[in-house]
Amino acid sequence: MTFLYKLHSTFLNAWYKGDPLLFFLLPVAWLYRFYMHVRKAWLQRGSNLPPPVPIIVVGNITLGGTGKTPLVIWLTQQLTHLGFSVGIVNRGYGGNLKSASYWAVKSGDDPKTVGDEALLLSNKTGCPVYVGADRQEVTKKLVQETGSEIVISDDGLQHYRLPRTLEIAVMDGNLGLGNQRCLPAGPLREPPSRLKEVDFIITQGEPAVSQGFVLKQTPKYFIDLKGGEKKPLHAFAGTTVHAVAGIAHPDRFFRALKDLGIEVIPHPFPDHNAYRARDLAFEGSYPIIMTEKDAVKCHYFGCERSFACVAEPEVASNGTPFLFQVIQRLQQRGYFAMDHRLLNILVCPLCKGTLVYRKEEQELICKFDKLAFPIRDEIPVMLEEEARKLSSEELERL
Ligand code: ZN
Repeated sequence: MTFLYKLHSTFLNAWYKGDPLLFFLLPVAWLYRFYMHVRKAWLQRGSNLPPPVPIIVVGNITLGGTGKTPLVIWLTQQLTHLGFSVGIVNRGYGGNLKSASYWAVKSGDDPKTVGDEALLLSNKTGCPVYVGADRQEVTKKLVQETGSEIVISDDGLQHYRLPRTLEIAVMDGNLGLGNQRCLPAGPLREPPSRLKEVDFIITQGEPAVSQGFVLKQTPKYFIDLKGGEKKPLHAFAGTTVHAVAGIAHPDRFFRALKDLGIEVIPHPFPDHNAYRARDLAFEGSYPIIMTEKDAVKCHYFGCERSFACVAEPEVASNGTPFLFQVIQRLQQRGYFAMDHRLLNILVCPLCKGTLVYRKEEQELICKFDKLAFPIRDEIPVMLEEEARKLSSEELERL
């Protein structure tokens, strides 16, 4: 374990378990809060014209990873599936992009240059991913050069210069907000009240907070880093492996492997670790299993018997599906008014069946429930009390 990793763990432990010594850092935390407040007001000054295409910011108010990237992957896949062209902007954290102000990520790019997350986003979604420090500039270039209809910003909740249509905060269900204090006395980049301003809060792992959206990362299979051969989830059950994770909460990965019946020798590394071949030179001939984020950096080493655990993100909700609510929010803010592609996700709120779009009448019909839902100002109103009851004659004419 490196010095940085130890320091990071020490602070994390103190923040989340509430070390009384942190009391002495409170004045610094107050100064930090004040600084963040002034900074926000300064960056948001001037006219606030809505951006030409909707910008969805996925971020958090705590330091470190809470599952932002998996959520961005999921949202991008879902919107792409509906037929939208989505582009992603990322800071390129962990990479050292010095010469260019922005960079369009390609699959063969060096993770040392563009960052591990950006490369993972590109590989998993197949969508354009642009990285650079000035998010506003990067977003402009992305839209100009790729014609993306929706931009998703991976992180950047505090990047106030970037206008945004929708804000999604990702929280860790187990760690929560720690001792609820700002840096350096606690893990927060902004005070807890900031969460009241965001459109949606998604919890990574149980227990869910707020609206009840839970992001789950389900392991699907293993992939051989050398040959690309897939192995089923039970392939390593009952055997011992070296588990490598350079992510914000490595324990979560080790636990997932243990749940698959695998005997784990844990090797945690700092988030965005720049691996060298000797980092993975472990004793014994046990296979190595790592996260996908680590795999984009380690596949160069060509080590024998190394595998990535491929996981698919998924957002569960105990009410109206999350994707539906996202689209509805975008419509309320003036984008994609009654776009034909949205009909694919519109379902009857009662029977969850498909609807018939009647353009002339500006209505959506559920034949099963004999209801016509109105479309007002090009926004479908999917409420039972607002729907019109259809007579049998009317239904027959459809
Ligand atoms: Zn129905």
